Amino acid sequence: MKTESSRRSFLAAGLALPVAGVASAVASPTPAPAPQQAKGPAGQLSYRTLGKTGMKVTTVGYGCMITSDSTVIARAVDMGINYFDTSRNYQNGQNERMVGAALGAKRKNIFLSSKCDEKTGTGILAELDTTLKELNTDYLDVWYLHGLGSAAQITDDLVEAQRKARQQGKVRFIGVSTHTLPAIVDRVIETKLDVVLAQYNFTSAEAYGAGLAKLNQAGVGLVAMKVMARAGRRGRGGAEPAPAEPAGRPAAALKWVIKNPAIATTVPSMTDIDQLEENFRVMGQAFTDADAKVLTAALEEVRPYFCSMCGKCDGQCPKGLPARDLVRFVMYADGYGQFGLGRENFQRMSAEHRAIRCGDCASCAIHCPNGVRVAEQAMRAQELFA
Ligand code: SF4
Ligand code: SF4
Repeated sequence: MKTESSRRSFLAAGLALPVAGVASAVASPTPAPAPQQAKGPAGQLSYRTLGKTGMKVTTVGYGCMITSDSTVIARAVDMGINYFDTSRNYQNGQNERMVGAALGAKRKNIFLSSKCDEKTGTGILAELDTTLKELNTDYLDVWYLHGLGSAAQITDDLVEAQRKARQQGKVRFIGVSTHTLPAIVDRVIETKLDVVLAQYNFTSAEAYGAGLAKLNQAGVGLVAMKVMARAGRRGRGGAEPAPAEPAGRPAAALKWVIKNPAIATTVPSMTDIDQLEENFRVMGQAFTDADAKVLTAALEEVRPYFCSMCGKCDGQCPKGLPARDLVRFVMYADGYGQFGLGRENFQRMSAEHRAIRCGDCASCAIHCPNGVRVAEQAMRAQELFA
């Protein structure tokens, strides 16, 4: 485990930066949108190439997972943001429909990605047909296997199905999303996936930087998610009144991710125009010493709450509780202000897991090497959602 001082040095000094976006000419069935001039608040659109896809994406994209107001998405397109990400299962399947309606005819001006959750090739191909219908589009620019945490989960069956969809012209490029990047790097290269969507932020272990560099060198396009850790807005719309918003933290967190040139684009969640404009302004801004100071302070604050999904606590609870999932559900409510999303996920657990109360344990068997107070967070999930 890294010491506190080495983590602070890591933040302040930045990463050992890999070679910037590797591009190659890959034939694609649909012309890429032309880069635009900024049409938003003070700020400048900045672009990078998404690896071998050749797509010129804005460094700030748009994660639609928790957006309910479709006008924010439409405004983002008008401002020139050109990469939008959703998933078949967001908002119980409603998110794709909302995104499709928000984009309308603007869809042709942007790159659009979605994700599938089924575990068989046949299953994901059926999901894809639903996705295309809900998004009201003939194709996706990137289609991800959703949230896979190990090489074994990226099965030949799933990848073959993705390739089939690509041959049929239903998707232009294929990829995988993950919270545990180091575990899948070699498998992504072996299977020649085009794009990886990875959790990556200022709390990420240094191994993430090395994994990103290796994928970048192999020409894999890299998109970062969960870029704020818990440094973004908190409590908005959640179960409790919003605490004071930490000044400068969202911008500093976003800049920290973008300063790694291996990352082509980012997909911060955005729910209103203020947040959109705040993130838009980050494009073209440098990461400064002041930003490093802000994040050093934030690191200490978020450590007990932010789960990097490293998986090291898996199987440690003698009662079989999926502890890291509970920490994540609390993060939805307390970190993103999405109480409903947290409760929705909690209610999807088995009745047996929902009935467990951590308060009944004399002490918690789980030790998180990253400093997350697991039992405390699990109890909060039970208090909030049970
Ligand atoms: S709670 Fe800690 S050990 Fe468990 S997955 Fe999260 S960061 Fe890893
Ligand atoms: S406190 Fe909760 S997570 Fe920890 S061992 Fe007990 S039931 Fe499992």
